Amino acid sequence: MSKVIIIGAGGVGRVVSYKCAQHPEVFSEIMLASRTVSKCELIAADVIRDTGHENFTTAQIDADDVPALVKLFKAYKPKLVIHVALPYQDLTIMDACLEAGVHYLDTANYEPIDEAKFEYSWQWAYQDRFKEAGLTAVLGCGFDPGVTSIFTARAAKHHFDEIHYLDIVDCNGGDHGHPFATNFNPEINIREITQKGKYYENGSWIETEPHEYRKELSYPNIGSRSSYLLYHEELESLVKNYPSIKRARFWMTFGDQYLNYLRVIQDIGMANIEPIDFEGQKIVPLQFLKAVLPDPGSLGTNYSGETSIGCRIRGIKDGKEKTYYIWNNCSHQAAFDETGAQGVSFTTGVPAMIGAMMVLTDKWSGAGVFNVEEFNPDPFLEKLGEYGLEWQEEINGSIELGTEF
Ligand code: NDP
Repeated sequence: MSKVIIIGAGGVGRVVSYKCAQHPEVFSEIMLASRTVSKCELIAADVIRDTGHENFTTAQIDADDVPALVKLFKAYKPKLVIHVALPYQDLTIMDACLEAGVHYLDTANYEPIDEAKFEYSWQWAYQDRFKEAGLTAVLGCGFDPGVTSIFTARAAKHHFDEIHYLDIVDCNGGDHGHPFATNFNPEINIREITQKGKYYENGSWIETEPHEYRKELSYPNIGSRSSYLLYHEELESLVKNYPSIKRARFWMTFGDQYLNYLRVIQDIGMANIEPIDFEGQKIVPLQFLKAVLPDPGSLGTNYSGETSIGCRIRGIKDGKEKTYYIWNNCSHQAAFDETGAQGVSFTTGVPAMIGAMMVLTDKWSGAGVFNVEEFNPDPFLEKLGEYGLEWQEEINGSIELGTEF
C-alpha cells in the first residue's frame, strides 16, 4: 500500500492514472498533478468512474519550480513520483525528490529546452546524490526506452552468452485519420525525429543525415513498412551495460506522407526552436506548431491498427550463432476502449505503472540512478502481458537484419 504522485496530465499521464488506479492494493493513494489542473480533473473523473479508486486526488503544479515541487511532496508524502510531464522537467523533479526523500521514475531522458539534444549524462550525474540519500531513480521506463531495454535484458539473461547485434524496431501501423499528427507531444517528437541519426558500431558512434538509411522491414500482423534509422536514447545505456554489443541501431517506420509534411514543416521554419518576434511577443515556432496540431491525447477516437515494437538480436549461445526476436503488438482501439488514450500513450503508460509497482513492492530496489535494463527483467515481464501488453518471442527465425550494414 503506497502513495504516489503522477506528474503530467497528457496522454501518457491518463494511461498511468488508469493503470495505477486499477491496482489499489499497491497504489492505495494517487495524486495526479500537472500544470493545468483542469486536465487532471477531467482524467480523475474518468478514472474514478471506471475504476472506483477511492483515493484519487489532483493538484496544480509547475514542475519547473523546485520549491513548489518540494512543498507538494512534503505535504502529500508520496513514496514515489512517476514523472510523465516533459523531458525538460527531469532534473527539477529529481532535485525535488532528493530534497523531499522520494523515489523517482520517468519515461524519457533529460533534454534542455533551448537545445534539441538528449543524453543520459545529466541524469547519470545524480548517481552519488541518490545513493547517499538511499533513494531509487528509475530512468526511461516507457516502451522505448523502457520495455525495449527490458527485452534486451531478458535476451542477455536467458538467451545469449553474448549479444553482438541489436536492432530495435518501432512500427506504428495505425491510422488516426488526420493528415498530420504526432503520437506523443509534438514538440518532443519533432525535435527527436528531425535530428541527425546515429548508431553504434565497434566502440564508436556513427552519425547519419536525418532519415538517410531506410530498410523495408516486416512487422507481425502489420506487414512490410519503410523503417528509418534514427538515434534513440536507450542505445546509449544499452551499449554501456552490454559491452559485447558490436552494433546497435534503432529503426522507426514513417509513411511517405508523414515525411513530406515533416520536410515542409522544416523547410518553412516551423520546426525551429529559436524564439522569434511575432507581433510584439517572442514565440518559438515549434511550440506554436504544437498548439495548432491535434492533441496526441485526442487521437484515440477512430484510431485503427496496431503498434509493433521489439528487439531483433544476433549473438552467441553455447558457442553457436543465434537470433532472437521479442516484440509486443498493441491495438490502438483496445487501448482507447480501456483508457480513452491511443496505443502510443498506452504502450508508454503501462510500463511506467509496472516499473512503479516493481519499486513499491521491492522487486526492483537499490540506491542510485538506474536504467531499467539494470534490474531483473523477469518480474516486470510477468506483469507486462497480464496488464495489457502481451509479448511474444521467436528463436532462430529470420530477423531480416544481418551482420552486414
Ligand atoms: P503531452 O504533451 O500529452 O503531456 C504532457 C503533460 O505534461 C501535459 O499535461 C503538460 O501540461 C504537462 N506539463 C508540461 N510542462 C509542465 C510543467 N512545467 N509542469 C507541470 N506539468 C507540465 O505528452 P505525452 O503524454 O504524450 O508524453 C509524456 C511524456 O512521455 C513525455 O516526456 C514523452 O517524451 C514521454 N514518452 C515516452 C515514450 C517512451 O516509450 N519511453 C513514448 C511516448 C512519450 P499542459 O497540459 O498544461 O501543457
